[in-house]
Parts: sequence; structure tokens; C-alpha cells
Amino acid sequence: MDSSSGWAVAPAVSAPAAPTMSHSATLVSVMFLLFLTFALLIFFLKYYFNANFRRGPNGGVAAARHKGVDPELLRSLPITVYRAAVPKGSTAEDVSVECAVCLSELEDGEEARFLPRCGHGFHAQCVDTWLASHSTCPLCRVTVVKPDASLKASTSLLP
Ligand SMILES: [Zn+2]
Ligand SMILES: [Zn+2]
Repeated sequence: MDSSSGWAVAPAVSAPAAPTMSHSATLVSVMFLLFLTFALLIFFLKYYFNANFRRGPNGGVAAARHKGVDPELLRSLPITVYRAAVPKGSTAEDVSVECAVCLSELEDGEEARFLPRCGHGFHAQCVDTWLASHSTCPLCRVTVVKPDASLKASTSLLP
């Protein structure tokens, strides 16, 4: 058996009498610390991924609670001052917009937000609160996305 080809990680006990030990002992302890840190890191990563995987199928509710839309996206949604102007020939019920968040009608002059994809309108305040914890339209559940340039152009066509 050739002990010199053995592993360098041999504990300090293997050479207790060596006078030049201090240097190699430091090296060994540093290596041991590094190894320990590494092992802890792997342990932590394993735990982290485990927790992540577990959260997927089981913690659906917890995950849903946290998924709101991007604040940046929220800011990019246009705010319109609602005008309940009733065009001739149509009844008031046809044009009135009910906010699905607070279940009351949008009043003349109130700030409203119309979602880009489905065109549903809500109080700006109400939909802001809603979108802080949801990423879908409160009415039709369409995912809220950034408005396109084409949609922006169509909103400016409002009378
Ligand atoms: Zn409302
Ligand atoms: Zn909608």
C-alpha cells in the first residue's frame, strides 16, 4: 500500500508529529470549510428545488394569490374619463358600463380603465386593485397584456 498516493483530504490526525504541520493544517481546515460550504450549498439548493416542485401542484392557491400583473403593464393601460353619453337611437342600458369589481355602474366623469384585449371597462381604481392580485379580466378572464399600438390608435378614436 502506497500511502503517499492517498487522498489529500486525510485528516490532520494522520500527521500529528510533523513540525511543518501548521501550514498544511490551515490548508486542510480551509479545504474542509470549503467542502462544508459546498455541501451546505448543495443541501440548500436541493431543498429549494424540492420546495419549488412541491409548490407547483399543491400550492396552487398560494401561487395564485401572488400573481398580479406587472406594475409596468398596469401603468401602460390607458385611463379614460368615462362619458356616459348616450348616442341617439340606443337605450341607456346598452351603453352603461357596469364595473364588475364593485358591481356599480360607471358614472359620468369617473376614471375608467378599459382592458386592451377584451375592451371591458372598470373603475380605474377598482381594476388597479384587482390586477394587483390577478392577471385576468374580472369579467371574462382574458389574460391582461400590454396594449398594442393598433389598440392604442383605436382608443384615440373615442368621440
Ligand atoms: Zn368599480
Ligand atoms: Zn374582459
